[in-house]
Amino acid sequence: MMAKSEEFKHVKYLWDNNIADQLDPIERLRYRSNILGADQRITNTGGGNTSSKIKMTDPLSGEEVDVLWVKGSGGDLRTSTRANFASLYMNKFLSLESIYNKADVKGVKTEIEDSMVDMYRHTTFGLNPAASSIDTPLHGLIPHRQIDHTHPISVIAIAASKDQERLTHEVFEEEVSWIPWQRPGFDLGLVMKEILKQDPDLKGLVIGQHGLINWADDDKSCYELTLTLIEKAARYIEQHDKGDKTFGGQKYQSLDEESRNEILIKLLPVLRGKVSQKNKFIGTIHVTESVLQFVNSFDAQRLAEIGTSCPDHFLRTKIKPLYVDWNPQAESFEALLEKLEKGLADYRADYTAYYEACKHPNSPAMRDPSPTVILIPGLGLIAWGKNKSESRVTAEFYSLAIEVMRASEAISEYQGLTRQEAFDIEYWLLEEAKLKRMPPEKEFARNVVVVIGAGSGIGKATAHRVAKEGAHVVCADLAEEAARATAQELVDIYGVGIGVAGTGLSGCGPAIGLGVDITKRESVQAMFEQIVLAYGGIDNVIVTAGIFVPPDTNGHISDDQWSLTFAINVIGAFIVADEAKKIWQAQNLKGSLVLTTSVNAAVAKQGSLAYDTSKAAANHLVRELALELSPLVRVNGLAPATVVEGSSMFPRERVISSLTKYQVPFDESESTEALRDKLADFYAQRTLTKSAVTLEDQAEVAYLLSSSKFSKTTGQIISVDGGLHEAFLR
Ligand SMILES: [Zn+2]
Repeated sequence: MMAKSEEFKHVKYLWDNNIADQLDPIERLRYRSNILGADQRITNTGGGNTSSKIKMTDPLSGEEVDVLWVKGSGGDLRTSTRANFASLYMNKFLSLESIYNKADVKGVKTEIEDSMVDMYRHTTFGLNPAASSIDTPLHGLIPHRQIDHTHPISVIAIAASKDQERLTHEVFEEEVSWIPWQRPGFDLGLVMKEILKQDPDLKGLVIGQHGLINWADDDKSCYELTLTLIEKAARYIEQHDKGDKTFGGQKYQSLDEESRNEILIKLLPVLRGKVSQKNKFIGTIHVTESVLQFVNSFDAQRLAEIGTSCPDHFLRTKIKPLYVDWNPQAESFEALLEKLEKGLADYRADYTAYYEACKHPNSPAMRDPSPTVILIPGLGLIAWGKNKSESRVTAEFYSLAIEVMRASEAISEYQGLTRQEAFDIEYWLLEEAKLKRMPPEKEFARNVVVVIGAGSGIGKATAHRVAKEGAHVVCADLAEEAARATAQELVDIYGVGIGVAGTGLSGCGPAIGLGVDITKRESVQAMFEQIVLAYGGIDNVIVTAGIFVPPDTNGHISDDQWSLTFAINVIGAFIVADEAKKIWQAQNLKGSLVLTTSVNAAVAKQGSLAYDTSKAAANHLVRELALELSPLVRVNGLAPATVVEGSSMFPRERVISSLTKYQVPFDESESTEALRDKLADFYAQRTLTKSAVTLEDQAEVAYLLSSSKFSKTTGQIISVDGGLHEAFLR
């Protein structure tokens, strides 16, 4: 057996005795699982499971019992913690076999098989709340102490080949045997148990169209065996690699990055609109050498039609992608749109026919018939999901399927599951039950919310508020660093991975931070292009950016200051709306725009002539835009009054000049915060509600105006000012 890391070329050998030997047996299982999951060539996100049978003291009897610790339902091997492992009394688990055998009708896909999943809970050891997965019987019914079940590219390539049985024996000889595809469950466990009874020396099994399962009596040997078997398959495939002839050779060429992005920026909003007719989707573009080699090839259309390789993938990738046979060198963008339109219509019709032909009397209703993976020569792979993380995983799954097809076509001929088997996985009642148990989606799930001014003050508070509702938040600000900082705060709370301007977009998660100067159209265009490449489109735009230029000591405001005030508070807001409009129209999906104006728009005040008139113009801009963007986009205004706390509009000098103006007594030695509190208190006393207005108060209304709760309101200005009767709109 190979044991040193140098002996593995196609998998990463990560076992470290110095780490493992410090751990208890359950933690060693967690450790083994994490290092297996860390290599995508060993198993895909969410795929595969591991187990150890561990001797433990029974809390009820004080006696030593055998406990099966097995990776439970949900989660991922790479990131699993102890909490992701279910624990079952072995003797109780094994007693379930007699219950199963007593059923009149048994076998794969029978009612008794599905109902066994609920029985596992009765065998729980140690009040462990982790839910057992459908793969539990594979681990429980095979007698060996340590078991790894993985979805390695190289082994699935064998398992998804026309002559998978012959290849299994050729590659693994006597060590590993082959069993045909069967939907995982209790019966599959019994099939494996029976095979082992007849051939006790077997070290593992290749499961047709699915993956690998292998075992050993200690954990390190099991880990090393897993790697050895995967390495063996990968080396066999490497010897047969077709090089330039892979996928029948190249039919089209890739576009350079600039031309590709130019097309994607035009294409993605249109495409997002078309796939989002039932539910909105968030996009991920996946462009690698390998993906391009596939989409540009002669065989791409034929292979795409066969469908995805791993049954784990169906819920995300659907049974097959949409391939658009467009020539990037010879055909126009309009031709691409036409082909996409027809491709989508054909895809939906085909999906509906598949559903109708394969459904059972008790099948769940047909799900969204739109494709989640779209392949376009020259451009790459575009994946769609309910959020960024899901569309990234979908892209990852299909790119793994491409690797499986590459290998499978090198050694044999790639084949998919039959449509009925694929359907019975995609519409499995157990999966449906899982989907039904998921919490309802939040208000801004599936939405991209752009907050301009998110680096500080109301914008930052608003970014946090909408993120809480499940939004993908684009934090934009003139101060790019501040915008990125807000985005990072959101990523720290809501998810991993952050994308920033100019870096690879594959890294972006639930929030991105971008710099923008709204007084320059090119800057606003560049911002929206980045957003489209990151998420596929936009839904809601909230502008909180604004400027207050104080007059000089004589109360005078210069011409340049007047220009700048209008450039930001009025024209900038218009440019944002005007550029967003192009995307909203291309998507043809409902959206919303919120502009931040001010109560000063309605109240003439000494000393803020330019600011007040610009805000009055902004109020009317809201109304004009509401007309112009109807019926697709609602436009409303948020009119704050004097939010002193945490506002970039209130530096120390302004606070002091205001306190002086209102004759509020103060001491120059007091801190800025203390002075701000004084001013806030003074302002609060002027209001009808006698309360200070906070950033959170503003953020709440910015969120509400954008949300479906205000779906029948457009062209309105809502004051959030604590109640200032002089600012009442008439
Ligand atoms: Zn599996």
